[in-house]
Amino acid sequence: MIMKTLPDFWFEPRPWIDGQWHPGGETVTVRNPATAEKIAEVSRVDASTVALAIEGAVKAQRTWREVSAVERGMVLKRTAALLLERKDAFARLLTAEQGKPYAQAVGEVEYAASFFQWFGEEARRVYGRIAAHPEAGREFFIEHKPAGVAGLITPWNFPLAQGAKKVAAALAAGCSAVWKPAELTPLIALATGPLMREAGLPDGVLQIVPGRGSVVGAMLAEHPAVRVLSLTGSTATGSALMTAAAPGIKRLSLELGGNAPFIVLPDADLDFVAEQLTRLKLFVSGQVCVTANRVFVHADAEAELAEKLAAKIRAARLGNGLAEGIEAGPLIHRQACTEIGELVAQAVTAGAEIVAENRSYESDATLREGSFFPPTLLIGVRDEMRVAQEEIFGPVIPLLRYTSVSDAVRRANDTPYGLASYVYGRDLAQCRAVASAIEAGIVGVNEWRPLKAEIPFGGIKHSGIGAEGGEEGIREFLETQVISMPKPVIAS
Ligand code: ADP
Repeated sequence: MIMKTLPDFWFEPRPWIDGQWHPGGETVTVRNPATAEKIAEVSRVDASTVALAIEGAVKAQRTWREVSAVERGMVLKRTAALLLERKDAFARLLTAEQGKPYAQAVGEVEYAASFFQWFGEEARRVYGRIAAHPEAGREFFIEHKPAGVAGLITPWNFPLAQGAKKVAAALAAGCSAVWKPAELTPLIALATGPLMREAGLPDGVLQIVPGRGSVVGAMLAEHPAVRVLSLTGSTATGSALMTAAAPGIKRLSLELGGNAPFIVLPDADLDFVAEQLTRLKLFVSGQVCVTANRVFVHADAEAELAEKLAAKIRAARLGNGLAEGIEAGPLIHRQACTEIGELVAQAVTAGAEIVAENRSYESDATLREGSFFPPTLLIGVRDEMRVAQEEIFGPVIPLLRYTSVSDAVRRANDTPYGLASYVYGRDLAQCRAVASAIEAGIVGVNEWRPLKAEIPFGGIKHSGIGAEGGEEGIREFLETQVISMPKPVIAS
């Protein structure tokens, strides 16, 4: 049974500015990637609307920063509660515009709510300190203050959760925010505007401006009132944003691309690995910056792991994410299918072998216009192949053979990226040693989804700057001021 596509709550497909729907400029059609069915025509912002949104945010920030931290936190916690209350409606909208299976969309709504809850709690834990002064009779006060207006730019793979991480941290810190969602998935972001208003957020503190990345990104980067830019996107976009932000010396928080190694140690339980790796690679159809991109397996275990993975891939249920029991939906658009097809073809030409594919969606006439890509298992992949060098962003599992663990670790680190990685094995001491040797922001040991609101998540090398979540996440939106002054004395 296919669930009803559009939710029952109310929002309009146009910019959300100062607590109201604002007339937009050119429109763009949002389609369900599973069926190509039109969901909405969304108005994009033009230059004058972006300026208006930033000016409104500047005004709102003056009062929002003075609201007590406890009260700011309450608004965020109420947002979390409302999201959970309307989980079903939000999840349906997410599945319709992004394509991920409904169960994964529900997971994303819960994950997003966990960030509103977490930063709702963190808002009251922004501690300054008093430091000893080297001269007698003086003291230092060290305070953390909201940085100002934050420009938030998010991608289409987790259109709600990536926004929640940034919005919640920025607002908890006392910043106001201008959020530019991805071109392909603006609806769930727009639905968040009235939800936060209902939770008690004053108008103008969160402006939502659907529009083109290069255009709105440049405007946010150029406007002198925007003090922090937070982006989740590709490394190329991060680099472009850094360049655009350079003249204005803006603070940057960048969560960029990855090329995650997944190291299967010689003693690993291969049934467990096959189950976890398949879940990881089918999750959002592999369109995840932390998904496994290179699976290193010992030469002696390769054939057995390939057999187990092949069985799981062939058995996976693919289709419209709004249908029951679906494990993987479509890719975001046809172009993505073409590009991933090229990566696989290049690998095969260079000597890799496809051992399993799942094209079961081809027999469903309702999905004919959708952008599906077959989950694919490749063996015999070598480091120099494009499929191992580039972020695949699709449900392709490339197995790379190794003969010594230290060599596998060296090869795992031989990439400009350093976002996520995974280590699977029975000997936890060996897992710990390998995890420590890997250059990445996060390592999952016998765990395929280690990201949580409680921990800082961020990349090293070309994978980014800064962190989201944890006690670190709020710091991206705070500036430090020191007041050096004489110690008051009792007036006699
Ligand atoms: P992906 O490859 O995942 O689509 P992108 O980096 O292209 O990632 O997009 C992530 C976000 O960055 C989107 O909201 C997109 O509109 C925005 N974006 C794209 N180009 C730029 C740019 N030059 N400056 C700022 N934001 C941009």
